[in-house]
Amino acid sequence: MDSVDTPQWSPESWRDKPAAQQPVYDEPNKLELVLSELERLPPLVTSGEVLALKRSLAQAQDGKAFLLQGGDCAEQFDDCTSGHISNDLKVLLQMNLVLVHGLKQPVVRIGRIAGQYAKPRSTDLETRQGVSLPSYRGDFVNGPEFTAEARRPDPQRMLRGHAHSAMTMNFVRSLLDGGFADAHHPEYWDLQWMNCSPMQAEYRRLVQAIGDSMRFVEALSGDRAGGARPEFYTSHEALVLQYEQTQTRHVPRQEGWFNLSTHFPWIGMRTAHVDGAHVEYCRGVRNPIAVKVGPGTESDQLKRLIAILNPTNEPGRLTLIHRMGEGNIEYHLPPLIAAVRQEGARVLWCCDAMHGNTETLGNGVKTRRFENIRTELERAFDVHAACGSRLGGVHLEMTGENVTECLGGARNLREEDLARRYRTQVDPRLNCEQALELAMLIVRKHSR
Ligand code: PEP
Ligand code: MN
Repeated sequence: MDSVDTPQWSPESWRDKPAAQQPVYDEPNKLELVLSELERLPPLVTSGEVLALKRSLAQAQDGKAFLLQGGDCAEQFDDCTSGHISNDLKVLLQMNLVLVHGLKQPVVRIGRIAGQYAKPRSTDLETRQGVSLPSYRGDFVNGPEFTAEARRPDPQRMLRGHAHSAMTMNFVRSLLDGGFADAHHPEYWDLQWMNCSPMQAEYRRLVQAIGDSMRFVEALSGDRAGGARPEFYTSHEALVLQYEQTQTRHVPRQEGWFNLSTHFPWIGMRTAHVDGAHVEYCRGVRNPIAVKVGPGTESDQLKRLIAILNPTNEPGRLTLIHRMGEGNIEYHLPPLIAAVRQEGARVLWCCDAMHGNTETLGNGVKTRRFENIRTELERAFDVHAACGSRLGGVHLEMTGENVTECLGGARNLREEDLARRYRTQVDPRLNCEQALELAMLIVRKHSR
């Protein structure tokens, strides 16, 4: 039985369940107008792409491909520019090159992009110097400025979010169609500020080696290598359910419902409640979906999530993204791996090495230590191997911009360096050299 046949599901059945982390709008008429406009707008992705991604994720589950999912913690409307989008794509493509070459496997490339605008928050209010205002919940909901006006949820922002997602998607598709991902031209992905990076020499050697191999294969076969259109997919946290509902569509000649705002929606850790609205919504769409699991996730809860979200054990349907923290992973991950095994469930395991390693410095700045991220990732490979399982992907927050948000890495960023280019409004991201260093680590761990 397909999950879409589960009784009583409809695109709005989530409304009967408790929905955490939802914006509260104070003008219902304006909200209704926005929602009905969103329902009429054309989709951002197609069901054919969504199903192709599901097949690729099934390959990754079988150990025949590796998932690379990454991008900004939150996209911002102001960053919907050619520079920001192409730089983020460049990092993903550079990492992709390192991984494909090192793992000798296809890499499934998914951006946190073209719709990653809404954020869950740990507290509803933010207090500064005795003044409390609603927390910033991403550009999709309200503005980051600390004023009552900016922090008021505005439904029009959903329309802007949809439009910015469409513009981003359009630019990404054009770049890819125009050969931007062509491995014959790795110079397209050069980031100027990386020229003096200690990572650059190793990366250059690798690019040279790949170029040589491609020319060798082409000389042998007489054909151009790597000619197929590169696959690239989008993902975002399916958080604001009123929006996700408007993007839930029937497609001619396809059964069931698809969320056509993104290829790969995920359920965040704060909304992964078995009886909650987010799980209810996601169980009914045919997209591949992911769920974040953390140190607080119990084995029984995970078993129930799997039963609800993938009752037919469909290949490629369910990815579990664990985000434990380097100090927790060895203790908390093995029971979850055991639970999956007991259920005989097919899942793709993916390590988010970012969200369990966030810390706030004495001066209030949120950061992450590269060492901790790297350790969690290394341990993830080891724990899976020790439990007879396999880590099939990584989930990272990173950007092609030359930011100083995470400590450490090749240039050994220190606390006093963070202020130089600290740009994120939410979580600290890896910069390109830190991201490349992790790609090289993945190759080393994977090929042991
Ligand atoms: C995120 O991915 O930005 C996020 C909030 O993650 P999590 O749900 O794992 O905390
Ligand atoms: Mn984040």
